[in-house]
Amino acid sequence: MADGGKITRLVLASHNPGKLREIAALLEPLGVTVLSAIEAGVAEPEETGATFAENAELKARVSAEQAGLPALADDSGLAVRALGGDPGIYSARWAGPKKDFRLAMEKVNEELGDSDDRRAEFVCALCLAWPGGEARIHEGRVAGTLVWPPRGEHGFGYDPIFIPDGYDITFGEMDPDEKHRISHRARAFEKLVADVFS
Ligand code: IMP
Repeated sequence: MADGGKITRLVLASHNPGKLREIAALLEPLGVTVLSAIEAGVAEPEETGATFAENAELKARVSAEQAGLPALADDSGLAVRALGGDPGIYSARWAGPKKDFRLAMEKVNEELGDSDDRRAEFVCALCLAWPGGEARIHEGRVAGTLVWPPRGEHGFGYDPIFIPDGYDITFGEMDPDEKHRISHRARAFEKLVADVFS
């Protein structure tokens, strides 16, 4: 264990209630109580990093210092090969101030034009940081192919245009439990749990 003791409480460095629910459900069976950034009085820092890992790390470190508790942060997005990895760390920002992901998906499709290369991956970096300065970072990825038009009503973000390898349905058409078993977030989480919580 990185700080020599079992973690029983941590703060999630996010103001997103969806992420809080998903992460609390994963950690509570391990005996960990998850506090939201709002409950812990932690501000959301600006994401100024150049990679998913840098952004997760800066959010986790700031939150751990502010809360005086271990803090967990994630940063994730869609990296499209023919677009040089875009939208990447800007995945949320491509949806604009109204968080319109129909618009963001259209932008991906337009930028791809008639490119034959439709490969993409979802990436998630998770960082757990302690107030003393120690931090552990793990990354999970899921590779797939982009389709147009969008398909399916489940999930969020870019899910309706992404078919993970080994399937013929999009994340938007997939049963959410199944997506959560194979997703980039699940894969990063498995690594973090094996490293820190077991
Ligand atoms: P973050 O909250 O700054 O990490 O932004 C993540 C963004 O990446 C989200 O707003 C989505 O646009 C995109 N994204 C991350 N994970 C997924 C996923 O599982 N499905 C669809 N879009 C995702």
